[in-house]
Amino acid sequence: SKKVPNGILIDAIRLRQVLINIISNAIKFTDKGSIKIEVDYRNLKKLNGIKGSEESIDLIINIQDTGIGISDKLLKTIFDPFTQEDRQSIKKYGGTGLGLTITNRLVQLMKGTLSIESELQKGSTFKLVFPEILISKHFQEKKSVDIFDPESIIFSKAVILVVDDIIHNRDYIKGIFRNTEIDVIEAENGEIAYRKIVEQKPDLVISDIKMPVLDGFGLMNKISKNKEFISIPVIASSAAVMKKEQEKILSGGFIGLVTKPFEINDLYIELIKYLKYKKIETEGKTEDIKSDIKGLTTEISKEIIKIIEGDLYKQWEKFKDQQPMDEVEEFANKIVKLGKGKNAEILINYGDKLLNAVKGFDIYSLLKYIKQYPELIKELRM
Ligand code: ADP
Repeated sequence: SKKVPNGILIDAIRLRQVLINIISNAIKFTDKGSIKIEVDYRNLKKLNGIKGSEESIDLIINIQDTGIGISDKLLKTIFDPFTQEDRQSIKKYGGTGLGLTITNRLVQLMKGTLSIESELQKGSTFKLVFPEILISKHFQEKKSVDIFDPESIIFSKAVILVVDDIIHNRDYIKGIFRNTEIDVIEAENGEIAYRKIVEQKPDLVISDIKMPVLDGFGLMNKISKNKEFISIPVIASSAAVMKKEQEKILSGGFIGLVTKPFEINDLYIELIKYLKYKKIETEGKTEDIKSDIKGLTTEISKEIIKIIEGDLYKQWEKFKDQQPMDEVEEFANKIVKLGKGKNAEILINYGDKLLNAVKGFDIYSLLKYIKQYPELIKELRM
């Protein structure tokens, strides 16, 4: 399809949530075949807005899977709460039947439409249309940063307060720091955040801007009025892509800004400016694994190898072509459990890394860790 303009004005957070919901379903209900995501547009229009001429497009996103399909009967009520396929195996697919209800509401809030075409055993296509989306001419291209490996950064102990009204956004950041020395505490608005700052004096704050009760600017204002807290760095996390908004944030007292959706890299690049850390050689990944291995007796190593070369290996082999999130998660959980049972740090760490990648939809890391599995076995053998 045609190249969609670089900068568009859309609610990135809602769109992200909508896509995550639809794509996770597609992955969940597709055992073989593929999932295709297409982004396209039509109806390029010149609008005569208040600020002179502006252009808009109708943005189209199609998510097509080759999964089990949806019956006509279910299609009629699929957006109602708690609807699932009649004889659907709860054991196999789980779920609550709420995902699409929420997704559809989000789409409506964004003034878009969501329609579904599906055929049993053939697959489903979820079609999103968002009409009259403004094209941004002042779009700030994300700066390309130096190649930077967050795995080479080891933060010293610190407490970060994450302020965001959307739990998914807080979870995302928590996931990033799961295996680090950083403790993440949370608040869902500026008011609660301020209370936590008073109680726990975090080393750094990452705060959303738009929030109910007290927004990011309100929080910043309260912090800067108190001498005790004025030295705490507060980084804004916002979906603002316009230069004007970014300037407003930075002149509002925030020391930095990460624009949502951001990746680990973007966040780390900000954080290393304010938090203590050590840099390690990432070539030494095997070194990492080696130090984890200390304390394991040959006996236990042998037992572990038997398992991870056996059933788990068979499961892992399938991931080379496909990485169904549920299965990878199950696999990772098994590894963590085995690690805990045998007191083997090496397995717990590896499993945790995989789990983080699954939870954060970090496909890049997911593939990387999956690829590392044979290396894990090799290390244990040595
Ligand atoms: P949940 O996945 O939690 O059950 P959803 O509202 O997301 O709830 O989905 C409702 C139901 O719609 C699912 O349980 C499933 O029966 C069906 N469904 C959703 N997406 C797909 C898909 N891509 N392929 C097949 N069936 C689907």
